[in-house]
Amino acid sequence: MKNITVYCSSSVSLDVKFMDAARVLGQEMARRKMALVYGGGSIGLMGEIARTMKSAGGKVVGVITKRLLDLEQGYDQCDELIVVDTMSQRKTLMAQRGDAFIALPGGLGTFEELFEVLVQRQVGEHRKPIGLVNLAGYYDPLVGLIDHGIEHKFIKAAVHHLLHVHADPIDVLQGVLSAEPFEIDPDRFLPMGSG
Ligand code: AMP
Repeated sequence: MKNITVYCSSSVSLDVKFMDAARVLGQEMARRKMALVYGGGSIGLMGEIARTMKSAGGKVVGVITKRLLDLEQGYDQCDELIVVDTMSQRKTLMAQRGDAFIALPGGLGTFEELFEVLVQRQVGEHRKPIGLVNLAGYYDPLVGLIDHGIEHKFIKAAVHHLLHVHADPIDVLQGVLSAEPFEIDPDRFLPMGSG
């Protein structure tokens, strides 16, 4: 596995522990000679992980929209910076270019990216592993919402097999790297399945 697509925050006012987590993940990916595929930004956790990767000798591929680039939010040291017109084109490319997906803490943009690849995995459009860095319990409400959906039978419990959730970014990376790809059994995974 070579390319990891990382979804993460664009916020510039985060607690230092979140910045540290982005750096830890970037360092470990660079050490393992992996490439980072991400939103191409220079700000927030995006900027932090991209700069860490570059200074550790890693490869960085950014996928950004023209609008965000014009707002001078692009990271100009990317080895490859792909400029697209829309956020949805960008999500498609980011998903295509990654062999696995990891969401660090983030906001609406990150939630949307995470849920898109999770739903695509659930319906069998891809077999790539997905990890969630639940640093300091940041994603407890999101995991709780999924459990709430399971409890009320809107979501199948098997979704837990599709999402590698750990507090430590290195455990998440390890989780996605050791995941065995498997085909989705619709009965077990899809809400309308009988299993
Ligand atoms: P958010 O979690 O709302 O901060 O959004 C971050 C996610 O959405 C990233 O993974 C990016 O792919 C995308 N994104 C949102 N805003 C930006 C931005 N200003 N620059 C680059 N990417 C962004």
